[in-house]
Amino acid sequence: MTDRYAVIGNPISHSKSPLIHGAFAQQTAQDIAYTALEGPLDGFAGAVHAFRDAGGRGMNVTAPFKLQAFTLATDRLERAELAGATNALKFEGDRIWADNFDGVGLVNDIQRNLGVALVGKRVLLLGAGGAVRGALLPFLAEQPAALVIANRTAEKATALAAAFSGRGRITGCGFGDLAGERFDVVLNATSASLKAELPAVPASVFTGAVLAYELVYGKGLTPFLRLAQNAGVPRLADGVGMLVEQAAEAFVWWRGVRPETAPVIARMTVPLV
Ligand code: NDP
Repeated sequence: MTDRYAVIGNPISHSKSPLIHGAFAQQTAQDIAYTALEGPLDGFAGAVHAFRDAGGRGMNVTAPFKLQAFTLATDRLERAELAGATNALKFEGDRIWADNFDGVGLVNDIQRNLGVALVGKRVLLLGAGGAVRGALLPFLAEQPAALVIANRTAEKATALAAAFSGRGRITGCGFGDLAGERFDVVLNATSASLKAELPAVPASVFTGAVLAYELVYGKGLTPFLRLAQNAGVPRLADGVGMLVEQAAEAFVWWRGVRPETAPVIARMTVPLV
């Protein structure tokens, strides 16, 4: 019998997840159906239960439901617990398991696909929202020399850094505190690029950097990537690889089979011009 999975969000029509999981299923000969579900803004839990009761095996969760999915779960894996958010659910009898693959997807894209090892590097993460929360544990596990979180609302970054301080060398600050600081890897995990805005960071953060990474995908050269390019950063990337890699982790979790990500990333990449 065909096993059913879905991504739930609101809105959801833009989601690439059905395309990605469809490609993975074809590649690995898994008999699954993967659809996109628009969850009602006031009825997330009901929609998840209805999907599970109709035989659903698992779900991806996207905005604005990542926090509600965390609350709904009966069991959470450590990454989801520490992130306070989940992007994947697995149904087993009465149990709803929650994990968060956003961070590990990002780290896998940087290290495996882009070939940049994070160990010993100075890493700057711009933003302090859900994507950053999910990324902190996987980043710290790679033992960077320093992990700095900088956010428009500085207090959110310092609070987040304090919460993870037992896990590695991490600090939080506002954008203004970055003057004179240099990093090897700079990531834009703010949502500024969705509105074609630029986080107010000094261009000097890019001096000597090997990689600038924009989590938003499919938007070409965003103001952040353009600033990095003008500062001479040799490698620029957007979040398409992160999206496909987090999907691959969920696929392995659900199906026990690892799909190949490279052909799917290649198919979905919008050139950075
Ligand atoms: P949140 O809404 O949780 O957080 C948004 C963050 O962006 C906050 O830190 C906010 O700062 C900051 N911000 C918003 N506008 C601006 C601006 N104009 N200048 C500076 N900072 C700004 O979002 P998420 O953390 O969930 O997602 C962040 C981005 O990452 C999104 O754009 C999303 O598309 C992308 N993403 C990509 C994924 C992928 O697979 N490629 C997966 C997950 C997310 P403040 O706290 O001051 O409000």
